[in-house]
Amino acid sequence: MPQKTKNTPMMEQYLSIKEQYPDAFLFYRLGDFYELFHDDAMKAAKLLEITLTSRNKNADEPIPMCGVPFHAAAEYIQRLVEMGHKVAVCEQMEDAKLTKGMVRREVVRVITPGTFLNENGSESKTNNYLASVVRNEAGGYALGYADIGTGELKVTLLTNEDAVFNELQTLPFKEIVLDEKTAEGLTEKLEKHFGILVSIQAKLIPETDFQDLVAELPQQSEKDVLVLLLSYLSDTQKRSLSHLQKAVAYQTDAFLKMDTYARRNLELAVSIRTQQKKGSLLWTLDETKTAMGGRMLKQWLEKPLINLSDILERQRKVESLVNHYFERMDINDSLTSVYDLERLVARVSLGNVNGRDLIQLKTSLQQIPGLVQAIAAIDEPDVWQAVIDKLEAYPEVIELIERAITDNPPIQITEGNIIRDGYDEQLDRYRDAMNNGKLWIAMLQKEEREKTGIKTLKIGYNRIFGYYIEVTKANLAALPEGTYERKQTLANAERFVTPALKEKETLILEAEEKSVELEHELFVALREEIKGYSRQLQALAKLVAEIDVLQSFAHVSEAYHFSKPELSNSDRNLSIKDGRHPVVERVIGKDKFVPNSISMNEDNHILLITGPNMSGKSTYMRQVALIVILAQMGCFVPAEKAHLPIFDQIFTRIGAADDLYSGQSTFMVEMVETNQALRFATDKSLILFDEIGRGTATYDGMALAEAILRYIDRTIKGKTLFSTHYHELTQLEADLAGTKNVHVGAIEKDGELVFLHKLMQGPADKSYGLHVAKLAGMPHELIAEAQVILNSLNEQHVLHAGTGIPVPDDTVEQLALFQENAMQPNEKHILDELSDLALEDCTPMQAMLM
Ligand code: ADP
Repeated sequence: MPQKTKNTPMMEQYLSIKEQYPDAFLFYRLGDFYELFHDDAMKAAKLLEITLTSRNKNADEPIPMCGVPFHAAAEYIQRLVEMGHKVAVCEQMEDAKLTKGMVRREVVRVITPGTFLNENGSESKTNNYLASVVRNEAGGYALGYADIGTGELKVTLLTNEDAVFNELQTLPFKEIVLDEKTAEGLTEKLEKHFGILVSIQAKLIPETDFQDLVAELPQQSEKDVLVLLLSYLSDTQKRSLSHLQKAVAYQTDAFLKMDTYARRNLELAVSIRTQQKKGSLLWTLDETKTAMGGRMLKQWLEKPLINLSDILERQRKVESLVNHYFERMDINDSLTSVYDLERLVARVSLGNVNGRDLIQLKTSLQQIPGLVQAIAAIDEPDVWQAVIDKLEAYPEVIELIERAITDNPPIQITEGNIIRDGYDEQLDRYRDAMNNGKLWIAMLQKEEREKTGIKTLKIGYNRIFGYYIEVTKANLAALPEGTYERKQTLANAERFVTPALKEKETLILEAEEKSVELEHELFVALREEIKGYSRQLQALAKLVAEIDVLQSFAHVSEAYHFSKPELSNSDRNLSIKDGRHPVVERVIGKDKFVPNSISMNEDNHILLITGPNMSGKSTYMRQVALIVILAQMGCFVPAEKAHLPIFDQIFTRIGAADDLYSGQSTFMVEMVETNQALRFATDKSLILFDEIGRGTATYDGMALAEAILRYIDRTIKGKTLFSTHYHELTQLEADLAGTKNVHVGAIEKDGELVFLHKLMQGPADKSYGLHVAKLAGMPHELIAEAQVILNSLNEQHVLHAGTGIPVPDDTVEQLALFQENAMQPNEKHILDELSDLALEDCTPMQAMLM
């Protein structure tokens, strides 16, 4: 029997490290490569499409292995992380040349989807959050999140699981950390719903270690969730996280709430059709100049305000910027040269900043005085003074970088040429030695040529032999005997050294090595000094980001003729004159877009919108919601004039092409979304219902639609826009005082249907379904037949007295599930038993056993 192969000491070391990181790919450093073994190797070879080999091919149990060169590792790591995996990077902690036996190795960092930092310097307009959730004693939840690339740290308390999912929906996150208890029951749902990595952190670091970040949070569960998050960060990052900002607690009801469906349906940040930013509200709004501004804009869009004075504060600034074009252009000029301060500060703290980053930091800070000047030139101190007071350029940081760092430092911080001459005396001495040495060598070449009479004699340098004197074979005879020591023979030349040359070489190389070392030390010291400014620089970054978003609002407002909305806390009148859909208008052009108004007073709860398909009903409803969102973000709105009450929530049920892909039936999705609104909407909410009931049989649908309208009118009283193709529902206007009919006009011209896209009072007078079918190019013959069928249907129907809902005659009545009089006795028995069941109280397993 073959003997089980005994592990080599290296493999023993590998296995003992791998044991600590079972859920990560272990990149084990071996000289110039990172190697992966066993399962890791087999999986990674597939995922990364690299060759799988084995460590000891001829053994009985060869060990699967694959590897990547260390200089290309970043790219492979990024690919694995983007696929949702973790990578533990294990380095050699000692110089292999100086150690006997095994080199000590340690995992220096675990790179995960939620902690991935794109280190090739690209600025990003999106955050990458790591989230964490903890269920508390009372059954509620605490949700925390951090972006280690920017240092942002936030926390909020939520009452139930729905609220957790809703809030997570607003965050760009790729990974979530749970404690073991919360993980039960939640892990699978989170993975399925968001397709993200769920990590479980069992070991907690004492809260006292994070005192300065969490001490001021009022609730224990807020602290708990952040301690969990920070413990995970600390275990994976294994380095200073001093750039993390003091935790900010917020309440979700301090913002205009929109559930998942609403965000998606309204296409706030991504277009439904393309899943891209293009075609979304964000796309039309984003004229930010900085990555920080881009991220803040997205945050504002996810969380419009509900506090009137906060909204007005932003609005005043936008107005001021709209009215001061030239000053705004100056502000933009300054912003254009501001780099991603937040990320730069983070890199300073994380220790991965390089010379170029510091130059960017300096350049950014140098823009601040110009920015202040441009804002001051607006000359509206009541609007801007507080901002101006807080905008500080930190001249001492500028001066420090200016004095220390060369104008064009290399990317590497270990290669020298970062620190300026004159910054450090010792460094200057080394550099003098190097320069003098090189000068001496140049002189030597001249002297040797004169002495020997060989004009082609030259002194060169290579890494292996150092400095040498090179003489071509033809000239060798001219060389005097004695002082020249032969070093290397080439095809047609010989290379020599002399004792004096050797001596100089040692001096030069020593000075070079020491100066590079010293430069690195000086750079690290400078970095530490700048780190002391982290908090201030982060605050500055926020302020700059805010100014950037405000100028973006001003730009868009001006360029697309938005107007300042009037917002009110004291009445519930909603009136918009000539409103437009900002995205559709941008796509089809302002000239082609037909503006539409809305007017709903205090008692008017429901606007029932009829009109043919494709006439613009859902565009109209969406545009009202987008105008509300823009207004509550503090931006101007695409309308001639607008008076808006402040809304607390927006709900939508709008048919979308992607309904089917979630696996639920269209009608089920429709009912779930509708139910969200009916459960949580208040009289301060905005509700958009597009063609409710379309997904089921006509009479079911119509009955549901009417009942929903009555329910809203009676109990919710929130402002509701309800589009329908059930023409019969328009009769409700007579019955429900809060309901008003409008329709989107279309006219027939020469037998064709022409959409006017214009909203008009009263119900639509006709169903245009056949005309739309005709427009779509259906055969004339088919259309004619449909017309005959339609006429006969119209004749068959009698209108239901109260509602106008037609009651079908007996022949088309829906089949009842069980018609009692036609039943056999045993069938009746089954029916009785069925109706006695309390289905809502039984589990799926019980149901199957019944
Ligand atoms: P409906 O909901 O009535 O089926 P949509 O709102 O989806 O119709 O609009 C159909 C198309 O009509 C849109 O794609 C848009 O291009 C165009 N449209 C809608 N409203 C307007 C408008 N106010 N002005 C110009 N075109 C519009």
